[in-house]
Formats: sequence, structure tokens, C-alpha cells
Amino acid sequence: MHPPRPPEARETLLRELAGHAAPSEGGGETFTIEAPFTGEALGEVRRNTAEDVRRAARRAREAQRKWREVSIRERSKILLRFHDLVLDRQNEALDLIQLETGKARRHALEEVLDTAIVSRYYARTAKEFLRTKRRRSAFPIITSTVEHRHPKGVCGFIAPWNYPLDLAATDAVPALIAGNAALVKPDERTPFTALWAAKIMREAGVPADLVQIVVGSGSELGTAIIEASDFVTFTGSTKTGRIVARKAAERLTGFSLELGGKNAMIVCADADVGRAVIGAERAAFSGSGQLCVAAERIYVHSSIYDEFAARLVERIGEMRLDANLDFAADMGSLASEAQLRRVEEHIEDAVSKGAKVLAGGKRRPDIGPYFFEPTILENTSEGMALFREETFGPVAALFRFESEDDAIKLANDSDFGLNFSVWTRDAGRGRLIASRLEAGMVGVNDAYASAWSATDSPMGGFKDSGVGRRHGSEGILKYTEAQNVSTQRVEVPVGDAERYAKFATAALKIMRRLPRGR
Ligand code: NAD
Repeated sequence: MHPPRPPEARETLLRELAGHAAPSEGGGETFTIEAPFTGEALGEVRRNTAEDVRRAARRAREAQRKWREVSIRERSKILLRFHDLVLDRQNEALDLIQLETGKARRHALEEVLDTAIVSRYYARTAKEFLRTKRRRSAFPIITSTVEHRHPKGVCGFIAPWNYPLDLAATDAVPALIAGNAALVKPDERTPFTALWAAKIMREAGVPADLVQIVVGSGSELGTAIIEASDFVTFTGSTKTGRIVARKAAERLTGFSLELGGKNAMIVCADADVGRAVIGAERAAFSGSGQLCVAAERIYVHSSIYDEFAARLVERIGEMRLDANLDFAADMGSLASEAQLRRVEEHIEDAVSKGAKVLAGGKRRPDIGPYFFEPTILENTSEGMALFREETFGPVAALFRFESEDDAIKLANDSDFGLNFSVWTRDAGRGRLIASRLEAGMVGVNDAYASAWSATDSPMGGFKDSGVGRRHGSEGILKYTEAQNVSTQRVEVPVGDAERYAKFATAALKIMRRLPRGR
């Protein structure tokens, strides 16, 4: 492991990265990025306009014309080099992620590891997903059919601030390997990490104009990105996701949406309580709870509820919060004043309506301006904002349940369905419960990492948590246009309708009798 970088090296890197944002028409008004650990300025970056986005998209489209001619093997090799560089230069990335988001280094590391996992996965599998495949035709001897996969062209990515490396890079990787260009808009609060990813991609061999990073607010640049893209991948809130979906639909542009969650954790009577408590800490407080897959509802069987609550409160009391660029902290800061206010409002509202704070519940300005204690509540109920809305902070509510049927009903009683988990010593039973849960990911004895990192399986949300999937075949094929090319080998007597009817009917009857006739 490399030692952390000295501050001067970091400043040089930030200045260099700022220069990599898409060029700006008017010479470029700049704005300041804040470091949540201190509330001080981290650096300045150019604000792009909608016209900059259109120009960036034109450059990307030009670069894509050449890139689509590069073999899948070569494209995969380049993205494998990106994998290597991300791992080798992880300290740069970890510093940037921590400085832009305020999260603990251990949580920033998840982004680095996931970026590598996804890059390796698609570099190794793309050829199989994308190769031309023979397909069955209606009358196999008469017609031969193949399916080609063509890149869409320019794919647009609109990403949130909470996982600024992972969510800017890992969706773009399969799109690039499939022969597309990427037009990426990170959240305006976290552009440096995305600019770093683009720089590392170039160092790995991705052509200069193929990945364009545009910096600015969604309301100013969002429409231009959607209008310039042949496919749009959006990650963020359900509210903005609906806006993106409407705009993309107007243009008949394909899209996928990775949206919010109100995730449930079910701790069964036979769970290993010690393991479930560690799991709950990870589930609720990774990224200070500003994680789409974080658990905000913890349902515990009444026979172990008191023990679970007491041990969780004890563990939370031992959690270390700090603002350093090292691995010591268990949890970092919230990302902004707005996040802090939302967390406080949710807790105040719940407490005023009868909820009880079992642990945490307070700001920690002694550590940094947006630090907030990991918080556990009980007695939360319908009518409190946090009962159904996503808090997106370090706050989880505990509930008792008597039967697993009830727990499943309670967990499913939500507009969201992103990531649930089940904790039990009987893994088979855990999987059975999982099959009855309305969520795109379910971990058995794990909060989220094992399902998210199983890149071979699609990941996404049921209900208001999303449309479409990342990972697996769906995570790369969505960036392609399928083309069916069918060649007729033998002339079919279509001119004589009566003869044709006899011929086609006889052929279909034969096909029906063939065991493998489809
Ligand atoms: P957000 O919707 O406010 O912003 C996300 C992105 O959309 C940002 O880049 C923003 O600039 C852009 N945007 C804002 N208005 C836009 C518009 N009108 N048109 C186009 N783009 C626009 O989300 P947020 O609050 O920054 O992120 C947190 C949310 O993201 C949470 O709900 C969280 O659960 C969700 N999230 C989901 C996943 C997932 O994989 N399902 C991952 C991370 C975060």
C-alpha cells in the first residue's frame, strides 16, 4: 500500500484535473468545490454550459466512429489497464473521494474495489456478450439468421455525489467496451473524482475525446445531455429520475434509472446476533448512510430484539468518527449542510411524534461541520417523515416482529425495492424469504457488498427504485442496438398463395414434431 500523498501533491493534482473538464464556450466561469470534512474550499472548477455539452457530445461522437472499429479484444485490454491503474493509484482516488464526500476511507475503498471488479468483469466477458450469434429462424433450412450487437453511439451518464468514482466510472466501462463514447455529468459537488477517473482512462489508452466530463448542475445541463445521447444512464433520486425518464421518452431515447431506496434488514429468531449487529452497522452507516443500498429499517424477531438492540447500541458507542485521510475511522462526515439538515429534520419530526433515540441523534461540530452521530431509533410509526421517505443519512429505525410472514409484509410495505437483507443461521430458509421480498437485491447474512459485487448478476430496483439494471448481460447489452440479419437460402413459393399455405402448414407441423423445434 502506498503512503498517503502530501498536500502539495494533492493541490497539483486538483489543478491538473480542473483542466480536464470539457472546454467552456464563454472562457469558463469557475465555481468552488467544498471539502465537507472542514467546510473549506477544496478547489475551483469550470462550470460548463448546455452549449459546452453539445460540443463535448460532438467530439465524443467523432471519437466513437474510430473507437467502434477497434476490436473488442483491444478495447477490453485498455479497460483492464484502467483496472490496474485504479488499483495502483488508489491513494489518489481515496483522497479525492474522501475530500469531496467526507466519507471514511474504508467506505471510499469500496468504490475503488468495485471499479476494478466491474472493469475486469466486462473486460473478460464482453466478447461473449457482444459476439455475433447464430439465431434460429422460422424455417432453419430455408433461412439463416444472425444477431449482431452494434454500439449505440454516445451514452450519457448522470451521476450522484455519494459514490463519485463508482457511479461515474462503472456504468461507463461496459458502454466503452461495447464501442460507445461516454458523456458523463458527475454531481456538481464531486467533479474531481470523475475527472480523475477520466484521466486514468486516458492513461490506460482510452482515446482522448471518447470520455467527456461536463461539470455543472443537473437543471442546467441535464436536458442537453439527454438530447445529445443515444442512451441515458441515470443514478440519483427517484424525483429526478422521473424528469430524466420523461425527457428521454419524448425523444424515444433508451434509459436506465438507478434510484432511491428505503431498505429493510430482517433479523430472524435464529440469527447469529453478533454477526447481525456487525452487519447492521455496515448496512446502516457505510458512507454515513448516504448510500442507496443502506438499511434504514431493521426488523428484529421479538425473541432477540432486546439483546440485538443493546448490542447494537453498545457497538455504535464504540464507533470512531474522524476526518482524516487514513483507515482509522468507522464513519465519516455527511456530505453537506443540506444533508445534515435533512437528517436532523427527520429525527426531530420522528421524536416529536413519539420516537425514541436509542443511540446518537446529535451533530458533532467538534469533529467537522457536517458530522452527525450514527443514530438508532425505535417506536417510529406511520405519519413520521422517516417512516416511508429515504433519509439518506446515518439513521436506522428498529422494529419488532413476531412471525417471518409479518416481517416480509412489513419489509415489502414500501414504494421502494432496492436492497434488503435477511439474517438467519439457515441460509436455505434465508433464500426462501429472499424470494418473497420485493427488492432487486437481497443479501443473506450480508448487507449489500456480496450482492452488489456479484457483477455477473443484474442489479437494480423494483418499484420506485429503478428501471433497468446494471451488471451482468443487461449491464452491457443496454448500450447496444440488436440487429437481426436473416438470409434466405431457398426461394419460398409465396407468389402462389395456395401452394404457400400448404407448404407453410406442412413445415410448421413438422417443426412441432421435432423435439428441439422452437
Ligand atoms: P439527485 O437526483 O438530486 O442528483 C443526481 C444527479 O442528477 C446529479 O448529477 C444532479 O446534478 C442531476 N440532476 C439534478 N436535476 C436534474 C435534472 N433536472 N435533469 C437531469 N439531471 C439532474 O440525487 P442526489 O440527491 O444527488 O443523490 C442521492 C439519491 O441517489 C438517493 O435517492 C440515492 O438513493 C440515489 N442513489 C441511487 C443509487 C442506485 O444505484 N440505485 C446509487 C446511488 C444513489
